Amino acid sequence: MITTILWDVDGTLLNFIAAEKAAMKALFKEYGLGECSDERIQRYSQINRKYWERLERGEITKREVLVGRFIEFFEEEGIDISIAQEFNEKYQLRLGDTIVYCDDSLDIIRSLQGKVKQYVVSNGTVAAQTKKLRLSGIGEVMDGIFLSEELGTEKPNIGFFDKVFEAFGEVDKKQILIVGDSLTSDIKGGNNAGIITCWYNPGKKKAAEEYKIDYEITDLHEVYEILFPL
Ligand SMILES: [Mg+2]
Repeated sequence: MITTILWDVDGTLLNFIAAEKAAMKALFKEYGLGECSDERIQRYSQINRKYWERLERGEITKREVLVGRFIEFFEEEGIDISIAQEFNEKYQLRLGDTIVYCDDSLDIIRSLQGKVKQYVVSNGTVAAQTKKLRLSGIGEVMDGIFLSEELGTEKPNIGFFDKVFEAFGEVDKKQILIVGDSLTSDIKGGNNAGIITCWYNPGKKKAAEEYKIDYEITDLHEVYEILFPL
């Protein structure tokens, strides 16, 4: 029986693409950088993904992700890279401004209150996530929030999960489910930690063999079947 859910936030409970788009468009306007087309955002998104994957493999630091992605993106777009650091700081706050739920995530987590313990496990920045979790109402539903920046280590590292389990006190890993959209951070992290994994895969992507995926869902409502099988 699953008693505890560890929820990823970006791309799982909240639509990250929508927030990213809105934040970029707003900042391009603020800095007078011209039109931020969808193609431009897509190019940024690819660079961003690449940097996060490097972090997940332990090749670079979080700081290098946050500023480095904008330096590379600005270089490619012919934009002055000296604004990268400040742009990133503003971007973090802007990211928290646009709240779009995945499926009916807020209703779902609300309906699970009192039935299972629920925690956020996120690699997002404290600045962005704090705002997002407050404005979305997700924060107040959770029994606890674990942000990598505060723990000093990221998913998929076992150290991240060790700190989470430490906070729980007694832990039965067979009763803990992680739900997330990322194979490289959520599923790999769950595998490293020895807990049950649920891959939220609305895009119906193919997964590499190396991941141990216990459940795969394309809609968050499917968690009910995992939690309360007939
Ligand atoms: Mg995610």
